[in-house]
Amino acid sequence: MSRFRWCLLCLGLLLGSIEFGYSQSRSTRSEPSNSLTVAEARAFIEEAEAKLMGLSVNASRASWVQATYITEDTEILSAQANERAIAAGVDFAKRATQFDGLTLPANLARKMKLLKVSLTLAAPSDPKESQELTRLVSSMEATYGKGKYCPAGQDKCLTLEDLTRLMANSREPKQLLDGWVGWHDIAPPMRHDFTRYVELANKGARELGFADTGTMWRAKYDMPPDDLAKELDRLWNQVRPLYVSLHAYVRNRLREKYGDIVPAAGPIPAHLLGNMWAQSWENIYPLVAPTDADPGFDLTEILKKKRTDDRQMVRYGEQFFISLGFAPLPKTFWERSLFLKPRDREVMCHASAWDIDNVDDLRIKMCIDITAEDFNTIHHELGHNFYQRAYNRQPMLFRDSANDGFHEAVGDTIALSITPEYLVKLDLLDKPSDPSKDIGLLLKAALEKVAFLPFGLLIDQWRWKVFSGEIPPEKYNETWWQLRQKYQGVSSSVPRSEKDFDPGAKYHVAANVPYTRYFLAHILQFQFHRALARIAACQGPLNRCSIYESKEAGRRLSEMLSMGLSKPWPDALEAITGQRQMDATAILDYFAPLRKWLDEQNKGKPLGW
Ligand SMILES: [Zn+2]
Repeated sequence: MSRFRWCLLCLGLLLGSIEFGYSQSRSTRSEPSNSLTVAEARAFIEEAEAKLMGLSVNASRASWVQATYITEDTEILSAQANERAIAAGVDFAKRATQFDGLTLPANLARKMKLLKVSLTLAAPSDPKESQELTRLVSSMEATYGKGKYCPAGQDKCLTLEDLTRLMANSREPKQLLDGWVGWHDIAPPMRHDFTRYVELANKGARELGFADTGTMWRAKYDMPPDDLAKELDRLWNQVRPLYVSLHAYVRNRLREKYGDIVPAAGPIPAHLLGNMWAQSWENIYPLVAPTDADPGFDLTEILKKKRTDDRQMVRYGEQFFISLGFAPLPKTFWERSLFLKPRDREVMCHASAWDIDNVDDLRIKMCIDITAEDFNTIHHELGHNFYQRAYNRQPMLFRDSANDGFHEAVGDTIALSITPEYLVKLDLLDKPSDPSKDIGLLLKAALEKVAFLPFGLLIDQWRWKVFSGEIPPEKYNETWWQLRQKYQGVSSSVPRSEKDFDPGAKYHVAANVPYTRYFLAHILQFQFHRALARIAACQGPLNRCSIYESKEAGRRLSEMLSMGLSKPWPDALEAITGQRQMDATAILDYFAPLRKWLDEQNKGKPLGW
């Protein structure tokens, strides 16, 4: 499932991999100056929007070519185009601070703020330190990217791809632990660089007026940075009882399978959950599946039997949006997208949705297989595309989702509407499967989405404290495991120490990519789904509601999408849900039948860790 999308304000994400620089003379932070006027601020924003628009389109074109025709040259061209766009973004962010203290009309003030909070890494103005920071992040990302585990006595080294497969499929605890330890051994060399990166990144953030980098990351959520942390804890506490119930059930089943290496009442060993980071557990579904939970149909088989081809797969997705009242995708989408893996050249197959000109040159890039999983992914990716087109009349700086959790949430919201009833309407299924068989489907979804929540939360809990200095370098690893145990209820089966640097074995930490958006997306998608299902007058259980063909749900969705980033996200949330607060009770509603079932299974067994 894709977690990539192209947009200007995401450019900061790429800072890790790409060299950048900015002009020292123009970017030194100025003290708030009373002599600057609103007219000058307006001219500055106009200049920024025009320049960033041009650079963003160029960078998108170069990245598209690079992703669909990988050669030495396209990689260089793409890196250069990105470098130019990023350098301009950093420059504008720094220059925006000149207008601090000047009272501006709301729209202008919002744009000024967006320029400043769009960065995920602020380079210090000292050119030497700026270069050092860039080098550190590139080097950590490269260490991660080249990471391999070479088992003693074997000639073959294992890449992360090999190890991912091993963690998903092996049921040999020794082999799993060996792969787990092998991968985590790539990270200790990053520890020193990471410590210095934290210092320098904080220095850059302070020059932009933030207390530290974590505060800068939290500043983009339209609330005081410290309130966001409290808000996330509130959401987590809403959903925690469901997680604890799932955790207890999975622990019991794993104990039946693996014996005493899984404690009856303590945390689950992190290497037994089907994923290197124990971040989602769907790969162990076969180990924990209920008996008698076969939904009675296999969408992959049905699609294959119907001789569905790649274009038809995408047409199904498009039809979903048309049924809600959205206009069909432009002709260029069908001409310019990449649907199939070419036979004669290298491409990046990872599914992604693109908005090349920030207007309507929409595309998806994926190597479509005729499977239920890709059917789902297509609905998700098109969610990005329809969002992108919906906000294309906003000014440049507002062409993005309401906060960074919204874009992913919208794609997933649409995918939640792929119900048996929807498949019947598409003529893919004769009659809906019996709801009594839903426990299997719900459990599988929970292993993916509920299991993810504590992980989605703790990565930045750890990093925010690292950036603020609350976690000093000599406690990096100890606190990492405290948080993993506290939130996820997982532990390491082998002793860990400060010689290790386990956070660095996760890409987003090594590459300076914030993570809170994934937690938010997982909360929001259920909140959106519940609200839209109600608008569509769906009476049944939430996991059986599809908003397909509901013009009213489409109208409300479109209303939110078209706002883009122009208003604080609570306004956007309200447009769909009528609520101004994020609310995790929708997940509880969605999984209510599963929760009941899990609680029955857990009767008399310990809960928690
Ligand atoms: Zn996505």
